[in-house]
Amino acid sequence: MVEVQPERVLHLNDREAGKGDLVLYWMQASQRTLHNHALQFAVSMANGQKLPLVVFFGIDEDYPQANERHFKFMLEGLSEVQNELERIDTRMVVRRVEPWKGALALSREARIAVCDKGYLKHQRDWRRRFAGEAECTVVEVESDVIVPVGCTGGKERYSAAVLRPKIHALMDGFMMPPDNVRPTLGSLDLSFEGLDLADSVSVLKGLWIDRSVHGVDRLEGGTYNALQRFRGFLRSGLDLYGIERNDPSRGIQSDMAPYLHFGQISPLTLALEANEAGSPGTEAFLEELIVRRELAVNFVSYNDRYDTFECLPRWASDTLMTHSMDLRKYTYDRKELEEGRTHDPYWNAAQKEMVVRGKMHNYMRMYWGKKILEWVEDPREAFSTALDLNNKYSLDGRDPNSYAGVAWCFGKHDRPWSERPIFGKVRYMNDKGLKRKFDMEAYVSKVSMMGG
Ligand SMILES: Cc1cc2nc3c(=O)[nH]c(=O)nc-3n(C[C@H](O)[C@H](O)[C@H](O)COP(=O)(O)OP(=O)(O)OC[C@H]3O[C@@H](n4cnc5c(N)ncnc54)[C@H](O)[C@@H]3O)c2cc1C
Repeated sequence: MVEVQPERVLHLNDREAGKGDLVLYWMQASQRTLHNHALQFAVSMANGQKLPLVVFFGIDEDYPQANERHFKFMLEGLSEVQNELERIDTRMVVRRVEPWKGALALSREARIAVCDKGYLKHQRDWRRRFAGEAECTVVEVESDVIVPVGCTGGKERYSAAVLRPKIHALMDGFMMPPDNVRPTLGSLDLSFEGLDLADSVSVLKGLWIDRSVHGVDRLEGGTYNALQRFRGFLRSGLDLYGIERNDPSRGIQSDMAPYLHFGQISPLTLALEANEAGSPGTEAFLEELIVRRELAVNFVSYNDRYDTFECLPRWASDTLMTHSMDLRKYTYDRKELEEGRTHDPYWNAAQKEMVVRGKMHNYMRMYWGKKILEWVEDPREAFSTALDLNNKYSLDGRDPNSYAGVAWCFGKHDRPWSERPIFGKVRYMNDKGLKRKFDMEAYVSKVSMMGG
């Protein structure tokens, strides 16, 4: 256990301490109590100043591309957090409000406000506006990566090969969990209006949100569920991870992405437990969890065009535009794709897996994105179609990994390959490769049994 490392901490304004008599933690990205550096930092501040701690969360019903599926999963996790905080006599105020405005309202009663760190543009913008208007000190504490994003050079890195040595050189220094200190003064008796999340189903029903995609029951949100699932994976998946994770018929994967996306589990918790397992699959797992995932965080942090075709390296966008008029044997519009009505049973199964289960197998995600590029006439349109479908149906959508994953299909973080129609120099994938390597009929049959 260690105190929060200074590299995770950033003062967002230069205001003096406010006149209020509490410490506020605006929880938004790190929706958990376990291994949450921002929460621990706020507890230390509160204890040091002999003040109570109040935690705030703002439910943004207009959150970009969020629908009932995402809200259900998030509320399941937040309900657990509110309960956990109550057990340590700490008030968690949850309100239906634009998050930074809700935090600002409560900050008027605070001496110091602590926030965590999400990486997307709107999350950065929220913090900037909050810190600009708050009348107290605002401190950001980064908890959702192993190596804080600024430690690897403060600029966009071209590929995993470039980022990997930097991460490897630093990661041991960040592999310690933060202290687990409890608040010494309780705040439950302070009265604030807010939602009681004990019955998250009723709260969900009352939200004014996009209902076009229903929640899924196979993956339930919250840290407890994440840990249960992950420990099952450590027992029966991790040993095979290095050799069989790509096989869509096997499902050798942790399913941690939705939990990581909502901050319901810390990558640190997963890395520590995977290390302790001492499995032959540990190294491959940490490569994905740390290097690949943090490459995506680096990408969205330093490339503001991450959600558009313009984020691609020049060689990739040029080659795709040069080949944009090439003859396509099959073309589909967005509706046909969304409904999984192509000639390709493997692609249709992958689309169905995402629609029904809220998550597509990693290897199929690559194939799925490549085929959208092949079948949609304009590469720009293909890019936005892939991103929109991914974000609409995936529980882990709207994540740095969503943007990096889709962009990868179009050449991001990759290198030029030999030139061919439609793809130009961008890496190509085909169904023959799938059939050669995996039992694809088993995958299709597995998905067909998922219902929906
Ligand atoms: C077109 C496309 C779209 C994608 N969309 C998303 C998305 O919306 N959300 C999302 O989290 N990931 C996305 N990915 C990356 C990857 O497919 C998922 O992270 C992975 O499938 C998540 O499943 P898991 O948690 O069971 O992974 P596991 O294999 O168990 O891996 C553990 C963790 O490592 C990280 N990881 C694994 N593979 C990758 C990878 N290729 N790149 C970056 N990090 C990785 C994830 O955080 C994952 O949760 C996408 C990839 C592609 C090609």
